[in-house]
Amino acid sequence: MADYYRTLGVPKNASDDEIKSAFRKLALKYHPDRNPGNKEAENKFKEINEAYEILSNPEKRKIYDAYGEEALKGHAGGGPGGFGGFSQQADFGDIFGDVFENFFGEGMGSRRSSSRRRGSDLKYKTEISLEDAFNGAKIEVNYDRKTLCKNCGGSGADSKSSVKKCPSCGGRGRVQFSQGFFSFTQTCPKCGGSGEIISSPCKSCSGMGVVKEKNSLNVKIPAGVEDGSVLRVSGAGDAGEKGSQNGDLYIEISIKHHPHFERDRQDLIYELPLDMASAALGCEVEVPVIDGGRIKIKVPEGVQYGKILRVPEKGMPYTNSRKRGDLLVRVKVETPSHLNEQQRDLLRKFAQSVKEQKEKENSGFFKKIFD
Ligand SMILES: [Zn+2]
Ligand SMILES: [Zn+2]
Repeated sequence: MADYYRTLGVPKNASDDEIKSAFRKLALKYHPDRNPGNKEAENKFKEINEAYEILSNPEKRKIYDAYGEEALKGHAGGGPGGFGGFSQQADFGDIFGDVFENFFGEGMGSRRSSSRRRGSDLKYKTEISLEDAFNGAKIEVNYDRKTLCKNCGGSGADSKSSVKKCPSCGGRGRVQFSQGFFSFTQTCPKCGGSGEIISSPCKSCSGMGVVKEKNSLNVKIPAGVEDGSVLRVSGAGDAGEKGSQNGDLYIEISIKHHPHFERDRQDLIYELPLDMASAALGCEVEVPVIDGGRIKIKVPEGVQYGKILRVPEKGMPYTNSRKRGDLLVRVKVETPSHLNEQQRDLLRKFAQSVKEQKEKENSGFFKKIFD
């Protein structure tokens, strides 16, 4: 059984202020924003919040003191995420918001400010050419995002006078209700926890406080970017609720198929078709490069199908250095298929010569054995 007093490090007879102050200290220390990716801190943070939720509420504390944690859970309407469960995001945010607002002195008495939500992150997909990935590129990103309504400044109200204190909760954002001899606090269903009711909503945004707007951004794509890379443009997502942080824009980059090159990280692969005779005799050929134009490379005599000839520093750049990958030229020897009579004749002679050479070698070999 969880010991909420021990979790907060306070004695059983701690005053409300002692509990609140212990919670603040611990919540600051274990807050997920300060401990990104730290599972242990996250769990601890949940435990602290759970303990605080109970001990900061006189009714719940009384029940907890008398009957323990199970009494609270068992009678809360049951089910996962019931009372004390953290799937109740609104309540969770409320407790946290309440305390942190006081702590940081934000909000000027409006309990709404710190429970305001950050704007949503947005996703944008774009496709660029391999040349653009090689050189780096500037692209224009056009997308829709929510921005604060200019008419009402995000309040959602037609005028200042149409914002009224919520009659249901008296502006506290939370209401208490009783069930038998238990009593619980919940986010006010009438105002959704804001503590305010808008009698006449803003006509521009229908009371939402935000409007959809087209946005256009110039985004620099770094040279060497890989297929599937994601760029983040901080603050370019949806507007948050009234003055709270914007979300971010995530730009996912895919790279178009290239007619000449295949990519393998920083290396580029080019398939070089080569006729049989050139492969056998060796030659000099021109191959395209991503820089534009072509370069000459040497193909050694007797090169085999599938052989890779490496041209250093002719691949893609690394995003964070001046180094480049290599160009890998993969030899694809082609068997001739439409021969004229003269060529056939030459090949027959060639074949005959190969045959004779083999026989000579073999006879030499057998001669050695028999000798
Ligand atoms: Zn508005
Ligand atoms: Zn209310």
